[in-house]
Amino acid sequence: MKPERGPGPLGLFGGTFDPIHLGHLRLAETAREALGLERVRFIPAGQPPHRATPGASGADRLAMARLATADNPGFEVDAAEVDAAQASFTILTLERLRAELGPARPLVLLLGVDAFLGLPTWRRWTELFDFAHLAVASRPGYTLDEARLAPALAALTETRRATPDVLATAPAGCLVPFDMTPLAISATDIRARRGAGLSLRYLLPPAVVDYISRHQLYL
Ligand code: ATP
Repeated sequence: MKPERGPGPLGLFGGTFDPIHLGHLRLAETAREALGLERVRFIPAGQPPHRATPGASGADRLAMARLATADNPGFEVDAAEVDAAQASFTILTLERLRAELGPARPLVLLLGVDAFLGLPTWRRWTELFDFAHLAVASRPGYTLDEARLAPALAALTETRRATPDVLATAPAGCLVPFDMTPLAISATDIRARRGAGLSLRYLLPPAVVDYISRHQLYL
């Protein structure tokens, strides 16, 4: 008898999502298909430790993430970081999810290359691989070229690099780069456009454009 397979890999996608845009959504959808993820859980950051206070409140960023993902049955939103009183650190979120989901479930932390390049500044960053795999999406303007990586990241890329099929075979520990259709969309640019009174259409889902307008965000 074949051993019964447990639930498939769960993608975890953290970010400020200030606001969530089509670059984020396309990354998650590509990851779901290309990496064989069962679902992708979006986790908006509460008070991001690495950056300035977001332009929108946690409640608004959470509401926009919910609107943006509502029509995709493969997506879900986790409010825990926004609800938490203390700063969000990814390692603490991974500890929580590992406790919640058990030791066997493959977890795949999704990142764009720009976020990956900043990994050595994250709290307890080398321990992330004890809790999850990492999958790194291409992003216009950034490269994962090993020759140009910081030595610690280059070493890690060399030892942990794997292909998507490996993700379902272990709960954590691998690094998998993947390509997505390049979308040079950023939340920074969206906030700047809004500030300048320019249209946001076709950069974000219509429901999010509408939410930003109704709640007068980023003015
Ligand atoms: P900001 O411009 O405010 O820095 P952002 O658009 O980079 O925001 P974040 O919420 O900081 O969005 O990003 C969350 C994650 O999504 C990060 O891992 C980032 O690398 C990734 N990401 C964001 N936009 C894109 C994009 N257009 N293509 C690929 N990855 C992206």
